[in-house]
Order: sequence, then structure tokens, then C-alpha cells
Amino acid sequence: MSPSNTSASVAEQPKIVRRSVNLFDLKRQQARMHERIEVRIAAVLEHGQFILGPEVRELEEKLAEFAGAKHAIAVSSGRDAITMMLMALDVGPGDAVFIPAFTFSATAGAIMPLGATPVFVDVDPVTFNMEVNDLDRAIRQVQAEGVLTPKVIMPVDLYGLPADYPAITEIADRHGLIVAADAAQSVGGGIGDRNVGALAPISAASFYPTKPLGAYGDGGAVFTQNDDLAEAVRLIRTHGRQGDGDEAIRLGMTGRLDSIQAAVLLVKLDAFPAELEARNEIAREYNKRLNGIVPTPHIPDGYRTPFALYTTKLPERDTVRARLQEDGVGTGLFYRIPLHRHPAFKRFVRDDVPLAVSDRLANEVISLPIHPDLEMDEVAYVVERLEEAISVRADGQADGA
Ligand SMILES: *Cc1c(COP(=O)(O)O)cnc(C)c1O
Repeated sequence: MSPSNTSASVAEQPKIVRRSVNLFDLKRQQARMHERIEVRIAAVLEHGQFILGPEVRELEEKLAEFAGAKHAIAVSSGRDAITMMLMALDVGPGDAVFIPAFTFSATAGAIMPLGATPVFVDVDPVTFNMEVNDLDRAIRQVQAEGVLTPKVIMPVDLYGLPADYPAITEIADRHGLIVAADAAQSVGGGIGDRNVGALAPISAASFYPTKPLGAYGDGGAVFTQNDDLAEAVRLIRTHGRQGDGDEAIRLGMTGRLDSIQAAVLLVKLDAFPAELEARNEIAREYNKRLNGIVPTPHIPDGYRTPFALYTTKLPERDTVRARLQEDGVGTGLFYRIPLHRHPAFKRFVRDDVPLAVSDRLANEVISLPIHPDLEMDEVAYVVERLEEAISVRADGQADGA
């Protein structure tokens, strides 16, 4: 704090008007589109095909077109999309699936029911995505041990930013592995002229309500360029049965999307291109205001992100976060526990592999409010409060000299 900013002058300063800025705000979005959503939901109630109805087929066509993917298969959730994607690739016991250690627990959780082994790879400190040299190291290590079969690389597009698919694909080709994307956060992103959904041979997306494209319940999709994989996922999502047939052709699950969620998603998909613009504009405003104060997200040349989250790093994050909370600013910690520190995944931890970047990020990342209806003066308020919270932290107390 500057020397002039003493207790005496503080008393003369205008009192800061406390605002309430949430991390996400689905109510404002809902207010924009509820009439259209009600019309589409009413149509579902009318026709009564509640599971895999006409809205689901319409959504699948529009999603495939949006992503530039040959197939989009609408499913029950993001986590189920990952599991079904891996089932279609015949992933099972003895197979190694390489995933970043810094991600949501569902990335690993979706692998375990198949009996396959998640292998944790460290991430890049700047992009937060899978670090390709460590990926190469991890594959070589598993090959050298000779116990597991390296089978799938599953990058995660964290906070919406696509992983380094060009480099990852090269590594996959070199070692004879398949790339299957956990694109749960990145629908709407892309690299160059290719969109998420078409960056890997097969990708899994989530429509959880707070994802960039969100339903009003659970939902997800599998995107693929491959006809056989698409057919496999379609069978798997309906108990392995084809059409009305009784025969289970392969092991399946209850993996379907319901028509009401598809109706909601159709309205949201219409609004999505404009929302992506708005999210990126908000991110640019944050970048401008936060420049020189905290690290701003690094988007490599040619990469596009939906900014599912706008995430920065702070050494004393928890203190700053508590201050922001008092000031009405909602923040999120994605993720404060890296995969190798979750009790559920203990048996996959390799003591000789450090995963140091994932550990550090878990203690430093903090996500600021971002959603398409956030106002620019709210961005200004968040940044102002963040600056204040950081300076308070640096000084140790509010008016400390
Ligand atoms: C949200 C998310 C999932 C799971 O999606 P659900 O729809 O919640 O099942 C998986 N992986 C990542 C990286 C996610 O962010």
C-alpha cells in the first residue's frame, strides 16, 4: 500500500459498493432463452418419446456439423461418454491409458470400471495441459516394465484449451497408440480450422450444466470420424442392443441422452456461437486488466478456447480467495487435488514419478467468474477486488504500513 494511503485518508475514500459476482450464472442465460426452451420441452411432452427421441437425432446432426465431425452420438454424461469411448476402443484389463495428473477426477474414474490402468502424466505449467515429453517418458516406462499394454492417450482440454494434439498424435503414431480426447470442457474450441470433436479420432464431451454448452441435467456426446467406432458407441449406449433387438451384441450400458435434455441443448446450441464470442471478449478484458498483476491464460497461436474457466495462479491463493468471497466474488478451485492424491486412485501412483507441476498447480490455480452474461463492469469489479486482496495479503493486514 502506498504511504499516502493511511488510516486517515481511508476514512475519506468513498465506500466500495459490494457486489455479488458469481463464478457461473445460469439464471441470466435462462432468462434470455426460456421461452424457446419451453416451446421445445412442450413438444417432447406432446410426442412422448422421452429417450432418444427426435430431438436427440436433431441434436446429433447439429453437433456433428458444429464440430466438423463425421458422427456425434448423444449420451448420458461426460463421464459415460469417456467410458463408452474407451469401451468402443476395446480398452480393458491390462491396458494402460495415459492421462494428465491435473484434471477432474472423472477422467480417471471413467477408466477404472473397465479394469484398465490410468497412467498419470505431468502437465505443462503454462497451458495446464498434458506435457508431451513426460507423456513420451511415461509410455517408454510402461513399455520397459512389460506389464501393461500402452493403448490409449487421453489428453484433457483443461479449462477449454485444446491439448497439443499435433505433438500428441505424433507420439501416439510413433508408439502405436490411439488418441481419445477428454473434451469435456472444450466444446466450441479448436486448433486452426479444426474444431474440438475432430481433433482426435474419437472425443468425449460433457453437457453438465456449467460446461460451456450445458444442459439442464446430465448429458454428453461422443464425436468420431470413424464409422465402426460410431456404430460401437451407439450399441454400447443402449445395453449393447441394436434397434428393437433383444440380443445383446456386445457389453453395453444405460448411456442414452433423454429428449428433454436434447431439446434444451438445441436451443443452447443456437445461441452458442454468440456466447463463445462473449466469453472470449470477457477473457480479453480480463487479460487487459490483469496484465502485470497475475498470470493470464496462454492461448497458443491458432488455438481457440471456449473459456470454460478463466484461470490464473496465485501463491497464496486460499487467503486471496477468502477475501474475494467476502467481497462477493465467487471463485473456483479446479483442481485442488491432482489425480495421484485422490484416495480412489492410490493404487495407480508410481512413487518414482514426481508429477511436480501438477502438485504445484493444485495449490496455486484459481478460476475467476466467466460466463456469457457477465458484464464488463463486473469484470472490472472482480479485478479491482483481486488487486486489493493481493495487496492486503502482501501487506499482512488491511492498512499495514
Ligand atoms: C466435467 C468433466 C468430466 C465429466 O463430465 P460429467 O458430464 O460431469 O460426467 C470429465 N472430465 C472432465 C475434464 C470434466 O471437466
